[in-house]
Amino acid sequence: MGRKREGRRAKPKSATLRKLDDVEREWRFEPSAGGLQVVGVVVMSLGGLALGAGVYAGLILEDGSPTSKFGPYLLAAGIVLLALYFFFGRGGAQPIRVGDLGVGTEDGDDVHRVAWYQIQSVSRVEGALKLKPVGRAIVVPLAIHPAAARRIAAEAKARIPERCEIEGLGKPSADDPQVEVEPPQVTNLRCAASDTALSIEKDVRICGACGAVYHRKHVPSVCVECGRSFARKRSAA
Ligand SMILES: [Zn+2]
Repeated sequence: MGRKREGRRAKPKSATLRKLDDVEREWRFEPSAGGLQVVGVVVMSLGGLALGAGVYAGLILEDGSPTSKFGPYLLAAGIVLLALYFFFGRGGAQPIRVGDLGVGTEDGDDVHRVAWYQIQSVSRVEGALKLKPVGRAIVVPLAIHPAAARRIAAEAKARIPERCEIEGLGKPSADDPQVEVEPPQVTNLRCAASDTALSIEKDVRICGACGAVYHRKHVPSVCVECGRSFARKRSAA
């Protein structure tokens, strides 16, 4: 019995090996206007109220005493809430891309992507899905990006299951909108197995599961990032 289990374990799941121009489409999610408006209006109103109350509380009554000692706090709270509104109204609500190349956020015409293998953990935090790459965390607010969060969760569970702690988000919709992918820049990329510089697009091979990149001449039999097997796909090089 024990031997049998070991044998099964020694055979890793397989992944396809892609070329850069094999990656043609990915899902794209616009921020939900409804969610954004609700968050925005609530925060904006609270901020405005707090600001107004703060200003009023700061007024001096005729007898020389301030109307309220809470004035400065209300003022501060109002400013924080307004700052939050501007954060969510702009920085926190870009369109999101999800696909073979990882998770991307749009910034005008650019897409900033984090590949799946670069994501160390995917977890659910208060009202949001949180992805932790090496740099700054990506926080996907559920009120603004519910469909993107479900899609990211489903893809992450399939691609990097051991790094996921997500429950209760539900399944992604089969109707999630897809767009064509413009070929990503390969400059500054290095082969994950050999550290060879990947300066020529044609030399790039991508793990179909985690997105790790390799030079076509140095593709290992097993992905160094996700442990899936590339067996029999190398002849395509
Ligand atoms: Zn991989």
